[in-house]
Amino acid sequence: MKKSELQKAILSAFTQEEWAALEEGRPKAPVSPFNRETLLDLREREDFPGEAADERVRALRETVDGYLRRYWPEEPGAHKYVTAVCLAMTFLFEKPMHPPEKVHYHSLVRDGKARYFCPAREPGEGSVCEFCLSEPMGELESRREALISETARAQGEASALVQREVFRAGFQDSGILETGALSFHREVRDTCAGNRCRGYDRSWACPPAVGSLEECRDRVLGYEKLQLFSKAYLLPDSLDFSAVGKAMGDFKECARALGRQLRPRLSRLLILSNEGCMRCNTCTWPEEACRFPEELQPSIEGFGFLVSELAKQAGIPYMNGKSTVTFFGAVLYNENGRLSEEE
Ligand code: SF4
Ligand code: SF4
Repeated sequence: MKKSELQKAILSAFTQEEWAALEEGRPKAPVSPFNRETLLDLREREDFPGEAADERVRALRETVDGYLRRYWPEEPGAHKYVTAVCLAMTFLFEKPMHPPEKVHYHSLVRDGKARYFCPAREPGEGSVCEFCLSEPMGELESRREALISETARAQGEASALVQREVFRAGFQDSGILETGALSFHREVRDTCAGNRCRGYDRSWACPPAVGSLEECRDRVLGYEKLQLFSKAYLLPDSLDFSAVGKAMGDFKECARALGRQLRPRLSRLLILSNEGCMRCNTCTWPEEACRFPEELQPSIEGFGFLVSELAKQAGIPYMNGKSTVTFFGAVLYNENGRLSEEE
C-alpha cells in the first residue's frame, strides 16, 4: 500500500472528538505524551512517499493488538492509540517504535541516513521488536569498546572514562584534543555579539556572562584535554525549525546526563555545549545567580571556538548529510583527574 494511504487509514481510526481531546491533552483513554505528540505530528505531515508492504503492516498490527490484549486488557480503549503509533513510527516516520527516553536507543546518522541501535531489543519472532527499525546494540557496542580500549592505551584512563560516558549519554562521535593546540577566535565572539543566534546577553551560558575571550581561554587552558562530542539528527526537512528545536532540546538533555555521570568521577571538569542555555523559561541573567550553577554548560561558540575547526582537528564529521543537523559539545578535563570509585 502507498504510505499516504496508510497515513489516512491510521488517522481515520480516530473520531473528530478524539482528535479534539488529543489536541487539548485530555484524551479519555490513557495516552502517553510521546504517543499524543506522534499522532498530532502525523496529522500535520503530508510527505510520506513510497510504499509499505501490506503483509508487514498487517502482521505488525496483529502483533501489537495481540500484545495489548494480553498485557493491558484493562484499558481496551487505549489500544488503538498504541497500535497507530507503532505503525506510524515503523512505516512512516521510520524510527524506533519506543521513545528514546524509554529504551535509550542510540542513533548514528551518516550521509543523511540514520541507523538506530536499541539495548532493549528482544530477539526472536513474535515480539514487536521484530518489526522495529532498531538494530541490536552488538555491532555498535563492539566498535565502541575497541575505540575506548585504544583511547585508554593511547591517552589514558580519564580519556577512556569520558569517551565511554559520551557514548552512553547517546552521542555518536568523540575526538580528543590537547588544549594547548586550540585556537580561540575573536571573530566567533564578534558573531555572538551580532546576536544572530539570539542567545547573546540572554543567559549565564553566553557572552558577555562567560567572560572575555581571554578569560575563556584561561579557563580552557586550566585543563589538559578537550574531548569533543557530537550528535546528528535527521530532520523531516532542513527548514523544519521545530524539529531543529526538538533536536537541540535532546542534545542539551544528553549533555546534562553526561555531566551527571562525570561530575562524581573526575576531580575537575567543564562541559561546553552547543549555543546558549534554554533550560528555564526565563533566565535569571543578569539580576540573579543561575538557578543550576553546577549544571551550567557554557556555549562552545561563546568560548571563541570555531566548531568546524575543532571537528576537523578531532577527526569527527562536522556535517552528516542532507536534511540533518549536528550539534557539538566538549568536556574539558585532566588526565590525572580520574577519581577512584571509592573517592
Ligand atoms: S527494538 Fe523493540 S524495544 Fe527497542 S524501540 Fe524497537 S520495539 Fe522498542
Ligand atoms: S539554567 Fe536557567 S538560570 Fe541558569 S543560565 Fe540556564 S536559563 Fe539561565
